[in-house]
Amino acid sequence: MELWYTEEHTPAVRFSIKLKRQVLSRQSPFQLIDIFDSDEFGRFFTLDGLMMLTEKDEFIYHDMIVHVPMATNPGIRRVLVIGGGDGGTVRELTRYDKVERVDMVDIDEMVVQVCREHLQFTSRCLGDPRVTLYYEDGLKFIRRYENTYDLIIVDSTDPFGPGEGLFTKEFYGNCFRALSEDGILVNQHENPYYDSYAIAMQRAHIRIKEFFPICRVYQAHIPTYPSGHWLFGFASKKFDPLRDLDATAWNGLGIETGYYNTDLHSAAFMLPNYVKKALERS
Ligand code: SAM
Repeated sequence: MELWYTEEHTPAVRFSIKLKRQVLSRQSPFQLIDIFDSDEFGRFFTLDGLMMLTEKDEFIYHDMIVHVPMATNPGIRRVLVIGGGDGGTVRELTRYDKVERVDMVDIDEMVVQVCREHLQFTSRCLGDPRVTLYYEDGLKFIRRYENTYDLIIVDSTDPFGPGEGLFTKEFYGNCFRALSEDGILVNQHENPYYDSYAIAMQRAHIRIKEFFPICRVYQAHIPTYPSGHWLFGFASKKFDPLRDLDATAWNGLGIETGYYNTDLHSAAFMLPNYVKKALERS
């Protein structure tokens, strides 16, 4: 008998992966956690039936959510990750010797436990001495901080369920306050292709623009996310990702990556016309 994982990308579009086996299924107080093994994508992890990451393509998402801001401001020392329970974002951050402190706040301790046990390829740096883990709603956590972080990365689930509050005006305003005077906020910005996601992207963009003087959007190709075309939001108080990229400095660090490079850094901000128009309308 063949076993397939199927995810609805829209009510009329489905995406399927042939499974080798189901590794785990556990209901946390917040969401349903599943882990599967497949031939094509290796091990993969879903929350409430939505793809979080696969062993084969997670490097694209984690490269782009971390190295774009890190190459824009080489002075980043203190980082807050909101969500990110699989540890992939923290793994990439800990590759920078200059990073002194990484706080990671995930609402769901069970996600972190499960990923530590079953997804070593992303979670293996969560024990780095510079990393502190908090289990709390990111929306509440951020209210307590002012001028504390150089970079905030919002590595959350989609804007429904526990992740909903991380797409609100209140949240973005509090991120602005928690950032230092040259702080950067990066968030996963959904896909621009399917209507329901595109609306979430526009809404997030409008809200972020209310607080940050520099707001840009960049893209990556992530095969297992809806439509395969994924956007990230880059918002900043001072640093412009195109003007301020110091390619020589970043390349001098010798960080090996599978997707990110400093040519792609600038190219990723060059958006297709339909995306530009959608963002201009917002
Ligand atoms: N790369 C993934 C994606 O976009 O598909 C995101 C992965 S990461 C596993 C998302 C994490 O965000 C989950 O572990 C979830 O528990 C966490 N999360 C959701 N809502 C949150 C909230 N309000 N505060 C903190 N963490 C939250």
